[in-house]
Amino acid sequence: MSLPHFKLLRPRTLDEAVGLLTKHGDNLRILAGGTDLIPSMQQKLFEPEYVLGIRHMTGLARIRERQGSGVEIGALTTLSAIEHSEILRRHYPVLTEAAATVASPILRNMGTIGGNICLDTRCLWYNQSLTWRKACGFCIKKDGDLCHVAPGGTKCWAVFSGDTPPALLCLNAEIEIVGPSGARRVPLREFYTGLGDNYRKLRPNELLTRIFLPEATANYRGVYRKLRIRGSIDYPLAGVAVAIKRSNGHIADARIGITAVNPAPVVVKGVTEALTGKVLDEKLAEAVGDLVARTAKPLTTSALTPEYRREMIRVFTKRALLAAVSN
Ligand SMILES: Cc1cc2nc3c(=O)[nH]c(=O)nc-3n(C[C@H](O)[C@H](O)[C@H](O)COP(=O)(O)OP(=O)(O)OC[C@H]3O[C@@H](n4cnc5c(N)ncnc54)[C@H](O)[C@@H]3O)c2cc1C
Ligand code: SF4
Repeated sequence: MSLPHFKLLRPRTLDEAVGLLTKHGDNLRILAGGTDLIPSMQQKLFEPEYVLGIRHMTGLARIRERQGSGVEIGALTTLSAIEHSEILRRHYPVLTEAAATVASPILRNMGTIGGNICLDTRCLWYNQSLTWRKACGFCIKKDGDLCHVAPGGTKCWAVFSGDTPPALLCLNAEIEIVGPSGARRVPLREFYTGLGDNYRKLRPNELLTRIFLPEATANYRGVYRKLRIRGSIDYPLAGVAVAIKRSNGHIADARIGITAVNPAPVVVKGVTEALTGKVLDEKLAEAVGDLVARTAKPLTTSALTPEYRREMIRVFTKRALLAAVSN
């Protein structure tokens, strides 16, 4: 499949990038590692006039410990760098575990954390070639006005399918977004809209620059479990991230994030209250598994059935919780 024609712009600095976004933002796509954008452009899901290649911009590909206030990660840091970071492995293990499951080693060498957070939502009816989509009929997410997954409705249910955002949500991460009016810092949990077609709150003239992991969630135990078809490469079809703080055998704080079962990655409500102050055993892990599975709302957006994906959210939650307290 060939790429559509586009003009490649390659800023070296953030100021230059923002200038180009301001000028061409309405007809431009940002390219970081390109591991998702390039295949999508080959499928003619995006046909922008301009592509802003930000990979060689300076200063945004590093992991930096900030004395007493957590860790800062540049948006252009590769997933491999995150997977192998000693600082992150020691203090934020749920993130390194999640990063290590993305795609394959070669894709992780190219793919960035910023690209993973900004990843487009996915659907069986959408992530297809132009010929396939023409034959089956276009849908609300691109070029059409109906949804094959929930016919009769007007909402797109394409699922968010990134692995690191549920881990980042458990850690209460914040992100920095930069545009013509400067930088703003927002909690990651406010970044996603919950809509499959318009899934993130990012204006056309803005880009994501940094991720902040707070000191308060450093050293939480962390586990990530993921369902996919091919264990060596695929996007998640269900994913569960668990972050737990323990004190004297009791749970002092806990959060669970899920991915690939809703149009946005979600921190499950009620988990902290259900676990705090308790000693985790099989029964409690099972009860929390039920609670988390109720938050998952998978539809027929992928090759596996919604029922199986929801069940695996329940099973993975229980397993991840027990693994998190096992050592
Ligand atoms: C075969 C295959 C398997 C894959 N498996 C997985 C998987 O298991 N889990 C998973 O999470 N992903 C998977 N991916 C998707 C992809 O490799 C990762 O999500 C990767 O992290 C994307 O990062 P990137 O830098 O390559 O993003 P790009 O492809 O460059 O960009 C992705 C999107 O984010 C936008 N974007 C990128 N950076 C920024 C920024 N700084 N600010 C604003 N917007 C930005 C782009 O415009 C684009 O819309 C897979 C891809 C392939 C081809
Ligand atoms: S959920 Fe519906 S509208 Fe959205 S991509 Fe799939 S078929 Fe299209």
